[in-house]
Amino acid sequence: MSKKVEKKPVIVTPDPRLRQKSTKISQIDDEVRKIIDEMIQSCIDWENEHEFELSAAMAAPQLGYNRRIIVVREDMSDKNNTNFIALINPEVIKTEGKTLYDYEGCLSVPSIYGKVPRPAKARIKALLDDGTEVRLKPTDFLARTILHEIDHLNGILFIDHIKDDPNAFYKLDDKGDLVPLDYNKYIKGNKDLFPDDDNE
Ligand SMILES: [Zn+2]
Repeated sequence: MSKKVEKKPVIVTPDPRLRQKSTKISQIDDEVRKIIDEMIQSCIDWENEHEFELSAAMAAPQLGYNRRIIVVREDMSDKNNTNFIALINPEVIKTEGKTLYDYEGCLSVPSIYGKVPRPAKARIKALLDDGTEVRLKPTDFLARTILHEIDHLNGILFIDHIKDDPNAFYKLDDKGDLVPLDYNKYIKGNKDLFPDDDNE
């Protein structure tokens, strides 16, 4: 069955919807399924416009829906596999293992990358789109990805984890390499990125 999916723009900072806590899904109905379809379509559209990058995942608030839904790519190593798995009401049961530092970016925080600390392992509970409860034990990059997306449901962005670290921020240069970003100029005290910061 082919279905027409509305093209929704990805919202970016300082849109306040990115800073709201999302509400739980009480029933997986047509509205929820429509949001999931739009999220997956947005990931694919974005990727088609960015030849060398992969859309790993997305959270519903990034399309302006403050609902607890994320989609995660089935196989992050294969750009030709555009299947995504939706996780509804995902919860972090616990995190464990050592803290790993790796680069993260976000469609909702354009042009900024960061080297973000995350635990190596997580235990996640969620519902699939057919209502089945699943428990996942992601590690490394998959754990990082899912934790990044669950953060979105709580109004948290990856930049929040590194906001006081002047050496953690990067941008892409013309050749597509990550290079350090001028922290004092672009990050420190930037109200678009950190709206809740008190004036110092
Ligand atoms: Zn993100």
